[in-house]
Amino acid sequence: MILKPVRQGAALSLSDREARRPKELGDKNVLKDALDEEQKKLGKLQDRLMAGKQKAVLVIFQGRDASGKDGAIKNVFDGCNPQGCRVTSFGVPTALELSHDYLWRIHAAIPPRGYIGIFNRSHYEDVIAVRVKKLAPEKTWRARYAQINNFERMLTANDVVILKFFLHVSKAEQRERLIDRLEDPEENWKFRAGDLDDRKLWSSFTAAYYDALTRCSTKWAPWYVVPSDSKTARNYLITRTLNKTLESLKLRYPKAKPEVLALKASI
Ligand code: AMP
Ligand code: MG
Repeated sequence: MILKPVRQGAALSLSDREARRPKELGDKNVLKDALDEEQKKLGKLQDRLMAGKQKAVLVIFQGRDASGKDGAIKNVFDGCNPQGCRVTSFGVPTALELSHDYLWRIHAAIPPRGYIGIFNRSHYEDVIAVRVKKLAPEKTWRARYAQINNFERMLTANDVVILKFFLHVSKAEQRERLIDRLEDPEENWKFRAGDLDDRKLWSSFTAAYYDALTRCSTKWAPWYVVPSDSKTARNYLITRTLNKTLESLKLRYPKAKPEVLALKASI
């Protein structure tokens, strides 16, 4: 099974059903082995990416609290070389960030060629959190869908390959995870009182995600909805989708120069 990109402008369902573990993924143990394989494959593809320095890869994660953004980042890249990864988490903008345009901090974190950039939240908060919490007038955030599409198109024209994953959890699963978090002394530090405010705004967030996904899933920067009630399924589907994209780039190791190879005789 592979994830299909969201079709721009087409209807999209973001109900609880789409968050469930897809049956066709089969048995949990088989899936764990398959994930292991995909992680190793990603590591190999990343090695070529680092060597060739032809492309940069940007992987964006969005999702509600407890949807598994941190878990996905930890797991999907398990077989990768940390030297070639750059993770950036975007929280509430600082005073300095707010004094700039909203893409300023984003652009500064775009990975250079040869690297995988991983975004834990992104510029999409500027059409999601900002919209739902009324942090900017409607006119301001409405204009951003087109600005974001243009920004992402400019990046891809400059060798940045973009994939965007929406980690979709059901309301019941989020409840379980938030309760688990509160009960676990090793996890409850993650909890913010505000997480519950966002949960109360569930349908407003769904509407904001719906617009972001359907307006900004483009040929050059597709959105994928990841069923995320199952962590293994989530990790597998993301890793497999990343691998498919990286394979399509046909990354090659650069050829060593003959004069370099000739050095062998002098060792
Ligand atoms: P966390 O990911 O749990 O550390 O939380 C980060 C918080 O920052 C979330 O509540 C986001 O909605 C919020 N956030 C991130 N980017 C923005 C933004 N551009 N404007 C407003 N809030 C944001
Ligand atoms: Mg959080």
